[in-house]
Order: sequence, then C-alpha cells, then structure tokens
Amino acid sequence: MQRKPKVTVIGSANVDLVIETDRFPSPGETILGNTFHQFLGGKGANQAVAASRLGADVTFIGSVGEDIFGQQIVDNLRKEKVNVEHVLTIPTVSSGIANIQVAENDNIITVIPGANANLTEEYIQSLSAVIVASDIVVLQLEIPLEAVTIAIEIADKGNVPVILNPAPAVPLPEDLLRKVTFITPNETEMAILTSNAGQDFSVLFQQMFALGSKSVVMTYGKHGVIYGERQRELQNYPALTVQAIDTTGAGDTFNAAFAVCIACGKSVEEAIVYANAAAALSITKLGAQTGMPTEDEVNRFLK
Ligand code: ADP
Repeated sequence: MQRKPKVTVIGSANVDLVIETDRFPSPGETILGNTFHQFLGGKGANQAVAASRLGADVTFIGSVGEDIFGQQIVDNLRKEKVNVEHVLTIPTVSSGIANIQVAENDNIITVIPGANANLTEEYIQSLSAVIVASDIVVLQLEIPLEAVTIAIEIADKGNVPVILNPAPAVPLPEDLLRKVTFITPNETEMAILTSNAGQDFSVLFQQMFALGSKSVVMTYGKHGVIYGERQRELQNYPALTVQAIDTTGAGDTFNAAFAVCIACGKSVEEAIVYANAAAALSITKLGAQTGMPTEDEVNRFLK
C-alpha cells in the first residue's frame, strides 16, 4: 500500500464483562461464579481496530463515559494506532457495557449503551471537516440514528464514500439508503431491512434497490458474500476455508477490510476477495479483536 487511506469510523465502543458460572442464579440469590474476563468491543471500535491493523490511517469518532472502562477503551484504541482525538468523554453517563453471564451452554446478556447513546448530531456536525477529509466513512447502528444520518449527509455532500454496516438492523429511511455507497447487511439484517424473511435473495436485493440502495454487499457467514448492484446480476463470492474457532468479529473485520480496499481505490471485486480473506482469518482465533489480522497476514494468506 502506498499512501495510507484515511478511514473514519463513527460508532460504538463497549467493554464486555463476562462472568462464567455453573448455573444461572435465581432472582434474589447470590452464587459464587467460576471466572471473570473482560473484552473490548462495540462494532465501531472493532472496525476501527481492524482497519488500523490492515494499514489504514484510522480516526475513531465515538463517546465514552468518564470511568475506568472509558479509559481502557481509549487506551486500547491508542495502542492499536487509532486516532482518538475526537473520542468524546461524557461525564454524566457510564461507558458502554455488556454484562454477559455464561452458564449451562447458554448466556444472558444485558447491554448498557451508556455514552454510545449520547453521541449527538451536534457533535458529529462539529466534526464535518474530519469527515470530508476522509477517503471513506464507516458507520454501524449502535449509536443514535440521528448521529448516523447527519454523518451520512455530511459525507454525501463532501463526495466521501460511505459504508453502512446496518447492525443491529432496523428498517431505514429511503433518503438515508440513497446516500450510502455500500450497505453491508448479513442475511438476518437483510431480512429486517426489507421486512421480508423470505429466502429468495434476488427478491430481497430488488427490494433493497427499490428502497434506494445502490450497492449491497450481503455477508453470508460460511457461504461468503453475495454482491448486488442495480441492473446487474448478483455475484457470489465463496468464503475461504479455514478452521473456525470463534466467529465473533467476522463481520467487523469484513467491513473494515472492505472499507480499506475501497478507500485505496481497489475495485469492489478485489475488495470483497480481500475482505473475505481477512474475515476468514479473524475466525481462526478466539475473541473479536484478538483475531483481527494484519495487512501482512492477509497478503500472505492470499498468496
Ligand atoms: P456477522 O459476523 O456480521 O454475522 P457473517 O457471519 O456474515 O457476519 O460473516 C462475515 C464474513 O466473515 C463472511 O462474509 C465471510 O467472509 C467470513 N466468515 C464468516 N464465517 C465464516 C466461516 N465459517 N468460514 C470462512 N469465512 C467466514
């Protein structure tokens, strides 16, 4: 890669607190658990870390609370060489937290969006210059939709391409979909966006186009990717064969890798091939961020 592409990720950052017990306690009961682990996550922070490992010059725009978790989130992004200059610290709320209890081969999860839910339209607006100076903007839906919408509008006016990873999915306004360069749902999210649970993907793609989308990159787990543009046949890109250990973060790695390639001026086809490889590598290790590969690792894997 010659010049480092400038990737701006606007989204969430969380800390996952994972407690493992033999069984779930009943309401009012106290039990002793077995282990406690902490993982850094949030789709925004994950995609920022993945893009940085893949060689991009990444700026993360998001917010944390004024607490120990917020410090850990920022320290980790800094360690991963992500620019954190525009991470807002909000004193009145907690950082985003996922409280995960694992027992009996199942889990119970409570997510506190905290500071992520407090990222405002005004704050994003104040960073217009950063957004328009990017080669690409990457967004997800774990922050308020108003913040996502204004970011897309600013990027659109500045002719900066936008990748929207619509997770967690909600039906989206046509005006927003029209301004997104690439939307990247997985198959479940595609069903929610189109309000159609049918398995005929060509119908779902047509519905996305009717709703305003130009280019749809549907990730499809171990099946790879289906890519669609208006007036063109759908293209299938099979996944690469790897030994899957933990698929957490596969979608985040895919989005980041795809964004980095598009920002470098590669074709959509090249970007999908590269992103399929990066995402496949990411699932060969435990944990979302731990498994995210470097640029060298992806290049070696593709040789
Ligand atoms: P999400 O994590 O958002 O649910 P997917 O499950 O669709 O997203 O996975 C995203 C991408 O990760 C896929 O398009 C593919 O490139 C890669 N991937 C996921 N599961 C596998 C697998 N078992 N083998 C190889 N690649 C995979």
